[in-house]
Amino acid sequence: MKFFKSLFLTLLIFSCSNKEKGRWQQHVSYKMVIDVDAESRSYIGTQELVYSNNSPDTISRVFYHLYFNAFKPGSEMQVRASEINDDDRSISKKILSLDRKDYGDVRVLELLQDGAVLDIINQETILEAGLKNPLLPGEKTTLSMRFEVNVPQQIRRSGKDSEDGVAFSMAQWYPKLCEYDSQGWHANAYIGREFFGVWGDFDVTINIDKNYTVAGSGYLQNPEEVGHGYAELKKPYDSDKISWRFLAPNVHDFSWAADTEYVHDVVDVPGGPKMHFFYKEDDKYSKNWKIVQPYSVLFMQYFIEKIGPYPYKQYSVILAGDGGMEYAMCTFIGGVRNFESLAGVISHEIAHTWFQFLLATNESKHAWMDEGFTSYISDHAENEILEKGLDFANRRAYVDYFKVVRSGLEEPLTTHADRFSSSRNYGMASYDKGSIFLSQLGYIIGEEALSKVLKKYYSKYVFTHPDPEDFIRVAEKVSEQELDWYLMDWGQTTKTIDYAIKSVKKTNTEGCDSVTILMNRKGEMAIPNDVEVEFVSGIVKEYHIPLLMSRGHKPLDSGVVLLEPWSWAKKNYSFNICVDDDVVVGITIDPLNKSADVDQTNNSI
Ligand SMILES: [Zn+2]
Repeated sequence: MKFFKSLFLTLLIFSCSNKEKGRWQQHVSYKMVIDVDAESRSYIGTQELVYSNNSPDTISRVFYHLYFNAFKPGSEMQVRASEINDDDRSISKKILSLDRKDYGDVRVLELLQDGAVLDIINQETILEAGLKNPLLPGEKTTLSMRFEVNVPQQIRRSGKDSEDGVAFSMAQWYPKLCEYDSQGWHANAYIGREFFGVWGDFDVTINIDKNYTVAGSGYLQNPEEVGHGYAELKKPYDSDKISWRFLAPNVHDFSWAADTEYVHDVVDVPGGPKMHFFYKEDDKYSKNWKIVQPYSVLFMQYFIEKIGPYPYKQYSVILAGDGGMEYAMCTFIGGVRNFESLAGVISHEIAHTWFQFLLATNESKHAWMDEGFTSYISDHAENEILEKGLDFANRRAYVDYFKVVRSGLEEPLTTHADRFSSSRNYGMASYDKGSIFLSQLGYIIGEEALSKVLKKYYSKYVFTHPDPEDFIRVAEKVSEQELDWYLMDWGQTTKTIDYAIKSVKKTNTEGCDSVTILMNRKGEMAIPNDVEVEFVSGIVKEYHIPLLMSRGHKPLDSGVVLLEPWSWAKKNYSFNICVDDDVVVGITIDPLNKSADVDQTNNSI
């Protein structure tokens, strides 16, 4: 009952915000039952999908993702990984060395629309089917299928028998309907990264050998029948397999993991969800996975406070997969890690919940709005909760960005996630330049306004797939500045910022002994500037130069002198300051180095 109540509330929230935007989005309701053969690491399943067409368009064909088909020689993933110019080559090598029994394979045996058999075209990781009855605007249809799956050896994100010895790391494990939005179908082949999906409700039943503990998205419906740390068993198992039934309301994906050796701890977040931890008793994991639990609670509370409410009653941290990857109501984390690495990856993956899961921008097109925003907020959370003592939590992102700029190989932030020329460029653009997008926005509109922007952006666009323009409009309204120039120059080009102090001359203007400071914009990208002037007497004065095209400026602390705005086309700008009996000893542009000025050697004199 609670499930439907919370579902109703969340649907209410998101239909209201959609109405306000005059936007629409599709809806799915999945019912899946799979029967797992744990020994051969395979399963057969049925899927009943009710697809609601909320678009103004008639849908005549549908597309599904079949992600596991990427894990076999000759796949787009393998070929691309073999050609890309860095670490991803190891993925190609791993796929090429698979035995046939370890290939990933998803076979859709039959697909029906409201009982009528559909013709299907299978193109590796994408399946296409023409509808017998085109789906009219405002109508729904039921698509049912039978499928069988051979779980691939775990190479990237999901699969069987991970390096940590986890039997099933099951992300992207079922035929998943592609998203259709105002920009059409997003039938992106699985080449390496980023996922996008349709919001809806998942009802998933997993039949598996009774020795396995299953962890994942969704609320377990029958804890007393399964035990395994969820509840006391009501009665002993009466067969070799048990059925695990999960309901996940209003999510756009469903993931699960299973192993016979999982330890299962549950911790309450005060005023928040229950956190479940699944890991192995082995000394390699158990110590840090135990110590990290209260920190994980603090991370969850930090993000709730800084961004907005977490709308589910559960979140699971699961030893599975590789690296760290965010999923619905859970994360998979792989590898033997020291405490700092484990806490850092947990912070990052929990933060993803807000950006990858609850806002869910199309990550293939705008990976920076997911990875970058996540990195920004998780760096701050780690600095505070792990007491790192950094004066500027996002500094590392700037260091990485400057390196790539110097290499001359930078690509625009807005590049399809699979089409960066190297993984390094993808990583720098998505994580670092995306994180700087926010910290530098704090420099432009003020830190207080930035924190309001994050909250407002979340509350307005939760469950709606916002895009970059949606974000910048929130920033514009909160800051009362025009910021389209920022989104365009930082988000769509590789133009760089470089301001310099050109000269300082003694003058006598406005009836006082003064100096004239001449500044020069050397970089192609403009930005507002803080300037700090230090006098021999020890006095420090601060000045702010707005950017004219912002048509406004950030709130200034008392004592900060507001100067005339600097227009974009003019590369030089000068201002006078009275010095009277004092002597200027130093002038610095952006003393806290929050703008990504690529040459800081000319920032002070
Ligand atoms: Zn991430």
